[in-house]
Amino acid sequence: MLLPGVTAVFVRASSPRTAQPSGNRSRLPSSDRPTAVGCVKSALNPPSPADQTRTIRINAAAIADAVSGVVPDAAVLARSSPGALSIIYAGPRARCPDPARPPDRTLDLPDRLLMPGLVNAHTHLDLTHIGPVHHEPGDGFVKWVDHIRANRRSDDDAIDDAVRLGIARSIAGGTAVVGDIAGAPAGRMTVAPARALACSPLIGVSYLEFFGIGGSAADATRRLTEFTRELMPATRRQLDGSGVRLGLQPHAPNTVDLGVYRWAASLARTHGLPLSTHLSETPEERSFVSDAAGPQRELLERLGVWHDSILDHIGKGKHPVAHLLPILETQPVLCAHVNDAPDGAIRTLAGSGTPVVYCPRASEYFGAAEHFGSHRYRDMLAAGVPVCLGTDSIVNLDTPDRISVLDEMRLLHRRDGVDARTLLAMATVNGADALGVDRQLVTLEPGPVLALIPVPVPPGTREPWNDAMMQKSAPEPPILSRERF
Ligand SMILES: [Zn+2]
Repeated sequence: MLLPGVTAVFVRASSPRTAQPSGNRSRLPSSDRPTAVGCVKSALNPPSPADQTRTIRINAAAIADAVSGVVPDAAVLARSSPGALSIIYAGPRARCPDPARPPDRTLDLPDRLLMPGLVNAHTHLDLTHIGPVHHEPGDGFVKWVDHIRANRRSDDDAIDDAVRLGIARSIAGGTAVVGDIAGAPAGRMTVAPARALACSPLIGVSYLEFFGIGGSAADATRRLTEFTRELMPATRRQLDGSGVRLGLQPHAPNTVDLGVYRWAASLARTHGLPLSTHLSETPEERSFVSDAAGPQRELLERLGVWHDSILDHIGKGKHPVAHLLPILETQPVLCAHVNDAPDGAIRTLAGSGTPVVYCPRASEYFGAAEHFGSHRYRDMLAAGVPVCLGTDSIVNLDTPDRISVLDEMRLLHRRDGVDARTLLAMATVNGADALGVDRQLVTLEPGPVLALIPVPVPPGTREPWNDAMMQKSAPEPPILSRERF
């Protein structure tokens, strides 16, 4: 549903700034950054003639962001121009300043809570065509992996279609920033998801996933090297100005040799690529890494890639987090899931400054708590681990119409009673930090913002946050001004 008189498209910040994560600060020299081509979004940020700048005031039941928490009876004063939205003021209505001239438009939304666009730090948009799939946790992770392998699309046009569907589902959920995992069909690294993201309103990182263990390790390092030499430079030029960057995603410790992780980490340092991985997700991963046993070993044997060289680094009795420490201590690696996190693992994550993406619905879908107990994201936060939120793919979600961390926030609110500011930090600024995106863009602080998301609440409510968290409907399309004001 559209708000009356409001255009339902995203506003792009005047400059889709991305910050380099610490340890990954290398940048292309300016001479290697030609103008973006095709549908890349640099054209969305032209200088705005003064007469196209408009101000809008929105009076809302409440606003909420990670900096100020929930502010009831609030007002937002914003400036819009083609392709840009900038907050002038967001706070209590009574303190909203009167601009020199009246706003060009005023919206009264007594039944909406407004929040900034959300950050989904771990998702797989190229699986969106599959849709939600019922899964019995007792069937195990390997059976599920077989299902995904059978349904993953292999040619770039079909992948592009799936990612575009995922982008639409993400926007329907109020998402502004993604950490998207670009799967490797038949082992081939593809930039099709990155190109699709660059043509969309979303910004973030497209992490190119790869596998490489035992018999497939040498192939993986060769493909990685070829990618950075051949496909990556031109793709980066095409993405320039889009707010979308390439990254690398070694899949998981049970599918990637430690030596291949090292190789990827060194390429990432050399080329300024962010890194992410799945880590400590399943009991199968734990028994494989610790004991070189279990269904994951059987899977590798079935695929014909098991090689005894794997025993050089696997089967040493280590927890997956300890196993990966040589990589984590060299540079930031965004680690998805970490369902299995004993005290020592949390200390390692905190000590190495490793950010974690918790995907609450995915953890429930696979029954992680039955194996490892409740997810320890609150202990991680208390220990100083930056924890953000992700959805994983739509396959494990209960919301076929959207892919959104709003629903992860709602689950944690209902199940664990987590306070608003913690949820908002996990759903916005922590994810932005982890993806190297300027956190300002996902707050309501004065300055550029990517989007304003309205969530319906009952008119006159005294508990707008609780009402927004307890309902199950999608947020409305982002509020925006670009064409109307
Ligand atoms: Zn994943």
